[in-house]
Amino acid sequence: MSNKESKFYAITKMKCPRCHEGDLFPGSNHFSFSKFTHMYKTCQVCNQSFEPEPGYYFGAMFVSYGINSVIFVAVWAILALIVEEVTLTMMMVAIVTIVVGLLPFNYRFSRSIWINMMVKYKGTSLKKD
Ligand SMILES: [Zn+2]
Repeated sequence: MSNKESKFYAITKMKCPRCHEGDLFPGSNHFSFSKFTHMYKTCQVCNQSFEPEPGYYFGAMFVSYGINSVIFVAVWAILALIVEEVTLTMMMVAIVTIVVGLLPFNYRFSRSIWINMMVKYKGTSLKKD
């Protein structure tokens, strides 16, 4: 199995779960606040639908929640290392800054994880034409 065929590749590169070639989102900057919610309706390469049913990405919210939980623990651990006493205010400011700052990335990344969990890889031989 080459690198490109792994789910890890498709998730981190935010590629189509079916062919691992088409992009899920327009634009390559996944940290940009402009149009980060824009997502292609179908794969540009294999025509896989990226929203097979309404509310498809409801579950992606839980993925996003999981990512934020990891961030929460990481922030707390780092703060505990660098300051003598971690206060609630310190914690809140750090968490809000990071979570809001990573919002576009988190939004796209959780959707990428979600659709890659649901759709199986079928190889690159399924091109439209
Ligand atoms: Zn595709």
